[in-house]
Formats: sequence, structure tokens, C-alpha cells
Amino acid sequence: MDLIPSIVARHAEMTAWRRQLHARPEIGFEEVETAAFVADRLRAAGIAVHTGLAGTGVVGVIEGRPGSRSIGLRADMDALPMDEAGDRPWRSTIPGRFHGCGHDGHTVMLLAAALHLAATRDFDGRVVVVFQPAEEGLGGGRVMVEAGLFERFPCDEIYALHNMPLLPFGQASVRPGPALASFDRFEVTIRGVGGHAAMPHKTIDPGLTMAHVVVALQALVARNTDPLQAAVLSVTQMNVGTTHNVIASEARFAGTVRALDEAARAIIEAGFSRTVQHVAQAYGAQADIAYIREYPVLINDAAASRQAGAAIEATLGRDGFAAAFPPLMAAEDFAFMLQQRPGAYLLVGQGTGPESPMVHHPAYDFNDDILPIGASLLCQFVELRGVN
Ligand SMILES: [Zn+2]
Ligand SMILES: [Zn+2]
Repeated sequence: MDLIPSIVARHAEMTAWRRQLHARPEIGFEEVETAAFVADRLRAAGIAVHTGLAGTGVVGVIEGRPGSRSIGLRADMDALPMDEAGDRPWRSTIPGRFHGCGHDGHTVMLLAAALHLAATRDFDGRVVVVFQPAEEGLGGGRVMVEAGLFERFPCDEIYALHNMPLLPFGQASVRPGPALASFDRFEVTIRGVGGHAAMPHKTIDPGLTMAHVVVALQALVARNTDPLQAAVLSVTQMNVGTTHNVIASEARFAGTVRALDEAARAIIEAGFSRTVQHVAQAYGAQADIAYIREYPVLINDAAASRQAGAAIEATLGRDGFAAAFPPLMAAEDFAFMLQQRPGAYLLVGQGTGPESPMVHHPAYDFNDDILPIGASLLCQFVELRGVN
């Protein structure tokens, strides 16, 4: 590994910061303490700081040598609304709040990178460090773009990274093209006619209708989308009825759709309401459908991905570049920023073996050993550019 010495020297401090943030997790658009933590340290390093973009977002601008190039680096700051398992000394002190995706680590890696770049200013042009709120399902990245992120802070390119338990420690990956899936979600209410369970002919059973709708929806991926274009439809919640001898009058289900291709996404969206409406109609029931488009497919720019691959090789060596790591069906609102500017999204391996819990698992924790790796990688995007 070829890490930046001044960042390695800060490893203990970074670890302390990460654990401090971990103990005080804040969920989307509520990152008040976290944003202040970031802004205070950026200001103390002489970095121009802008707060309040998308509510709790923080943007820092670092000027290097004279030059017109501007590179964006982005981290996410939010935690998840869930409880943490285990009893680490730095465990969450707030019930129902948990840094279960490692955004505490991402925040600290970008902060350390910013402090290094501000201390050395050994690059051409400027760097824009973007600390965004609300990545977990609330689209803070979209809100930042809509709030004028790139108009107020022009960037020619933008980069971000995420820790990855499925990749071993010491490796990182980036792939050109679609790298993470789109994310949509749906909520359906099926309205029937309730009644006595022993006299079903006097009812329109929303539960039976829902069962058939859920099965029929599985044909959208199996029979409507191209098998070579990955897509997932998962029904994750189904609710009907209150007791054994009453047929309810309503049933509800909800779930999510993911796709690695915008065409596949559109086919599923169109087929969704067609399938739900017609199957419900076949059983005499009515369906109210809410289908919400959330995040687009995350698409890495080809040239930026090559740049990111070079940064990985410069930092972790040739063996550290896991170029074959496949795309994931998870989603990321960094996709909204990549719709506006070319850039790339990296995955930094933090796995310590097959038992490493995946992000969003209650026993997950960010691996502090990757703090200097991520911070060094982020600096590489800026400093490699200076050499080019
Ligand atoms: Zn997450
Ligand atoms: Zn995450």
C-alpha cells in the first residue's frame, strides 16, 4: 500500500472521530451535530465552508495552484433508523439510530482528505468537498443538486466511495457504466368487500386478490425484461385482516423495484400498474397504486472510471484493484450527481472474512483500518490530476 504519510499519521485521530460520530448517529436531514462537527474542522483548517445546502449539507472549497479545473469529492453523513447489536465501547447511544452503513467512516475519510489537501494545496485548480445529508432512501443527493450544488460550486468531475464488506480489506473496485441499480418503491391498497369467513360468496376477498397479484408481479422480471438486464421486484410487506373468522375489506402490500438498466426499469413500471389493476379486476376488487421513482441507475463515466482505477492502483497496488467485482442491485443517490457531472463511485473493501456483516446488518461496523485508505484514495483523484 502507498498511503499518504500525513493521513496515516492522523489514523488514531480519525478513528477517534469516527467512533465519536458513531456514538451519536443522526438520520437523514437531521445531521445537525454531524454537520457542525464537519464544518468546525474544515474552518479550523482554513477551508471556506458553506452550510445549509439541502438543510444539513456542508460544502468546503479548497483552492490549489492557479487553474480552472475543479474536482468534487462527496461523502454521505446520515445513519439508519434501526438499533445496533453488540456492545462495542463506541456503540450508538441513541435508541433506534445506528450508523449501519458506515457513513460515519465516509464522513471522516473525506474530512481527513480535505485537511490534507488544505495543508498541501499541491494541485491545480480547486477541490469542492461535499458532505451530503440523507443518502438512505431520502435522496439528499438529489436535493443538493436541485438546491444548485453544481451552479454554486462548479465541478468538472465528482467522485465518491463506499465501504464494502463483500470486498476484502486492501482491495477496491470501480467499474465503468452501470454500477448500482435504480431504486423505486410501491405501495398498493386492494379494496374488496369484507364479511364472514364462512360465507366468502358474500365478500370480495382482498387477501386472496393480493396473493394472486403478488404472484403475477413476479412475471414482470421473469417474462417482461431482458434476462441479460438485471432487475429485481421484491414485495416486502403484506398486511390483511385482524382475526381468523373475518374476511377483511382491504389489503395492503409494499415493496421495491431495482434495475441496472433504465429501459428495464421503465418496462417494470409500466407492467406494474397493468398487472395489479387487471388481476384485482379479475377478482372483482379495486386497487389504488402508488409507484414512486426514487434513485436512477448509477452510471460511472468511462474516463473517470479509468482515473479511479489508476488511483486505486497507485494507492493499493495492482493486486488491490478488484476490477472484476460485479455491479450491485443496491442503490445510491450519488447517481443524481453523476447524471449532472462525469465521475465515478468506488467500493473500498473492508471485509475481514466471510463472517463480515454486510451494511444494514445490526452487527455491522465500519472498519477503522480503511480510514487512511479511503482518505488517500480521495486525495489521489485530486493530486493525480495535478500531475497529468
Ligand atoms: Zn445504506
Ligand atoms: Zn451507504
